[in-house]
Amino acid sequence: MRCVTCEKLSFYMICKSCQARFFTPVFNKREISKNFFVYSFYEYDVVKDLLNSKYQFYGDRIYNILAKLSFAKFALNFDFIDSVDVVAIDDHTRHDFSHTAILAKHLKSKLLNYKIDILKANNQIKYAGKTLKFRKENPRDFVYKGLKNRIVILVDDIITTGTTILEAKKVLEKNGCKVLFALTLSDAKF
Ligand SMILES: [Zn+2]
Repeated sequence: MRCVTCEKLSFYMICKSCQARFFTPVFNKREISKNFFVYSFYEYDVVKDLLNSKYQFYGDRIYNILAKLSFAKFALNFDFIDSVDVVAIDDHTRHDFSHTAILAKHLKSKLLNYKIDILKANNQIKYAGKTLKFRKENPRDFVYKGLKNRIVILVDDIITTGTTILEAKKVLEKNGCKVLFALTLSDAKF
């Protein structure tokens, strides 16, 4: 196959040299409500086209590479005493793989248990290009099927306005969970 970035022949969807040159994660932090932070790894312009691969059949391979370079490394350095549930925000199920589940899976470690299919959006309307007002008027309407009273890290692929993540956080808190922070691949404002 050819590398999606440099188009040279490669064994991977993103060749090893492009992985090193363009996809070394840069840690970024945004406060979306008081003392609640979303951490991300890539500037939006760097991964914009790749994130859209979730609509393609090869999207899972792209997400696996990016997750390995960023989320997996983060998990290695994660220091926490209690065990923590990693909850993937699942807001579209158009394909047989969930891109956020791939990200969550790469956080798996001794203290991080990844959970998929436990936080589902009833409303799967597309937010891309929509205003904050539109997003607030059309909430995701999440259903949480996980355990109550857990310590949780939320995972999504991108943060734009933060409404989705804050809505997910609220649902988890109603279930007695404490949400430490959220992790996303990319921040649209970064
Ligand atoms: Zn390449």
